[in-house]
Amino acid sequence: MPIEDIRRRLGLRPVINVSGTMTGLGASIVVPDAVEAVAAILTEFVEMSDLQRRASAVIADLTGAEAGFVTASCSAAISLAVAACMTGPDLVAIERLPDTAGLRDEVVIQSGHMVSYGAPIEQAIRIAGAKVVPVGQATSAAAYQLAGALTENTAAAVYVVSHHVVGYAQIPLKIFAEVAHARNVPVIVDAASEYDLKGFLADGADLVLYSGHKFLGGPTSGVVAGSKARVRDVYLQNRGIGRGMKVGKEGIVGAVAALQAWKTRDHDGIRARERKALDCWVEALDGRPGIIAEIAPDPTKNPLDRLKVSVNPAEARVAAWDLADRLAAGDPPVVVRDHEVEHGYFFLDPCNLHPGEELVVAKRLAVELDQARKSNVMAATSFEERLRAREAAILKWPD
Ligand SMILES: *Cc1c(COP(=O)(O)O)cnc(C)c1O
Repeated sequence: MPIEDIRRRLGLRPVINVSGTMTGLGASIVVPDAVEAVAAILTEFVEMSDLQRRASAVIADLTGAEAGFVTASCSAAISLAVAACMTGPDLVAIERLPDTAGLRDEVVIQSGHMVSYGAPIEQAIRIAGAKVVPVGQATSAAAYQLAGALTENTAAAVYVVSHHVVGYAQIPLKIFAEVAHARNVPVIVDAASEYDLKGFLADGADLVLYSGHKFLGGPTSGVVAGSKARVRDVYLQNRGIGRGMKVGKEGIVGAVAALQAWKTRDHDGIRARERKALDCWVEALDGRPGIIAEIAPDPTKNPLDRLKVSVNPAEARVAAWDLADRLAAGDPPVVVRDHEVEHGYFFLDPCNLHPGEELVVAKRLAVELDQARKSNVMAATSFEERLRAREAAILKWPD
């Protein structure tokens, strides 16, 4: 933690993030090279198209694609990539979006891929003016269903790689791309959170999209990679609907620095540090009544393990979600990964920790669990009540 913590100065809570890379918590820890680069560019002028050419070379080097550029976010990249597949390099059509008259404007996506990453992905597609055509059912999709959904009006096929998607019975990317390509339909892969920078292009993606501010540790940004012609068509959307999704010089320079740092990052060292944090938490939870702690691999095979903490309320005297809420309400606030907490477990994600914070997390866990065991009343808010409170809280901002 920096000596003078800006959060204290702004009256904000010094959150410890064990939930992963979350927009709601400020995404990730930006790597030192990117911090330096952002600070260095902020006071200078640059020719932005040259800066994006430089970004293209770096993205090409890391992904194996011909070209790339940096945009505002992966969500922006989805909208712009879809727009590009409809307009091509037609500057008039680009200025006319989201009016798609005369253009192919259908975008197919598997039902099980129609996720929310904080906003619905199908809206990111519709922003461009496209119509979303779901393929298959939430829990099953087949190649014949994809083939049957492709028409003369299909502009693109979107494929999502993420823990958010239904984790079984979806069409593998290779088959998805084969079917789409047989009809000359380009495949856009949303790989926002995936560490693999080459595999999706190798498996048939025409455009692959990443977040700059997730695993890469850049400032808020998105990365687009693909063939020169396609990337150019996406880039040209900055003259149209992309304007409102503008990335600044600091975002581009920061993302480029983060990409370069990724190449030389000590990945094994980081893995070992994350493992140390997991071991520390396993030890802190060992033997505690009603608590089972297991190391869980990442669902999309990113080289990252998390600790799954299952809570039996009868023994721990606290429900998993109440424990999560107490950790988040405490001092310092510890925010866990609780998107599946209705099943009675949450995860501790070690990938966004500052050195030493794992010890604070271990201590906070111990304090909350001791307190729950000592209490005469079991802390078990009904899950429905928690949901209602959370929904009501959405509308309370800015109060
Ligand atoms: C985070 C995420 C996004 C959005 O990325 P941003 O860069 O934050 O806009 C899109 N798709 C998936 C699968 C994500 O996990």
